[in-house]
Amino acid sequence: MASKTAIKCGKLFDGNTQAVQKDMVIFIEDNKITDIQPLSKAGDFAGYEVIDLSDKFVTPGLIDCHGHLGMNGEANGTATMPYETIPKATLKGLRMAQATFMAGFTTFRTSGDVGFSDVAVRDAINAGEFVGPRLMVPGPCIGSTGGHADTHYNPYIHTDWALGLVGDGPDELRRIVRYVIKHGADYVKFMSTGGVMSLGTTLGAQQLTYDEIRTIVETAEMYGCITATHAHGTNGIKDAVRAGVTSVEHGMILDDECIELMVEKGTYHVPTIIAAHQIVVKGPEIGVPEWAINKAKIALDAHQEGFRKGHKAGVKIAFGTDVGTPFNTHGDQAYEFELLTEFGLTPFEALTSATKTASELLRKDDVIGTLEVGKYADVVAFPGDPTEDIKVMTQCCFIMKDGKVYKS
Ligand SMILES: [Zn+2]
Repeated sequence: MASKTAIKCGKLFDGNTQAVQKDMVIFIEDNKITDIQPLSKAGDFAGYEVIDLSDKFVTPGLIDCHGHLGMNGEANGTATMPYETIPKATLKGLRMAQATFMAGFTTFRTSGDVGFSDVAVRDAINAGEFVGPRLMVPGPCIGSTGGHADTHYNPYIHTDWALGLVGDGPDELRRIVRYVIKHGADYVKFMSTGGVMSLGTTLGAQQLTYDEIRTIVETAEMYGCITATHAHGTNGIKDAVRAGVTSVEHGMILDDECIELMVEKGTYHVPTIIAAHQIVVKGPEIGVPEWAINKAKIALDAHQEGFRKGHKAGVKIAFGTDVGTPFNTHGDQAYEFELLTEFGLTPFEALTSATKTASELLRKDDVIGTLEVGKYADVVAFPGDPTEDIKVMTQCCFIMKDGKVYKS
């Protein structure tokens, strides 16, 4: 017999309407939502187990579209990561996925980890062996020699260990895309430009040619996979958008042409404001290298301007945090909601970016992202109303994933 649950919601944001609905009931059978009604019309609850969240604010399970399982806020994680073994990275990754889950993120798209540790964590959670979020993973990210994915700093040491997999030219990159998909990647993540935390790469400089990027995107498309590019600088963003990338991650230096192209192509922007913010605010205390702090500062100022312009022009914004980067720890990344409102989103827009829009980016909007009949029962709750005080988003107090309660 189906297990039946009714959740009484004091306030409800369903992901579809930009409004707070009061005194609603969500009916669930097994792992799916079967009905949503006002409490006044809900009738009696015979046969239902009732969960009383009548003093809480209920939303769809949150979605973080960008993070790393192998790091947890270390001052210079990309430098220390290559000294860890893959089994160690995998065990750590599981803990990180669980910490993110317990903050209300029932879906977590990660953004590149070593040795397919992310694939192992995803599979173990999907098999029911461990508690955790719905994970969507890329395996190692892909980049060029000397680029943001290339952490082989010493020319005399060769190892497969690196932040990502390195290739040059369309043929090599095509092979690498096939390789990551063969070994379990759900989607393809590549590096179009330099980064903040990799030594020696210039922040905005393009690191893959248009032909290389187009090959990555078209190969991924052949397998039905979406693509995401790490990109700060405008030229790297533009070539990736022209090549048909699904989302631009960070996108810290957007000019008008970038924005026009992104609107025209329907490209998503995953701004990860918290990543640069934390490096700028907390970096000097604990010795983040000065070159990295300087890169982050320049990026953050440009980011706010580009973000605002893009949002105004209609660029789709999906919530992502780059959790794992310096001082950006798993379980605390909901601080991004506050930063999104500081950058100019309304609380409703910030909530939508982490629910409906994020599910559309992941092409999973048929099953998650909103509270609707037929979708998975991924439901979370907060002790206050984020449309009045966005800070409550860091205080998730109830988690249901796939109809099962993990926190109450
Ligand atoms: Zn990242």
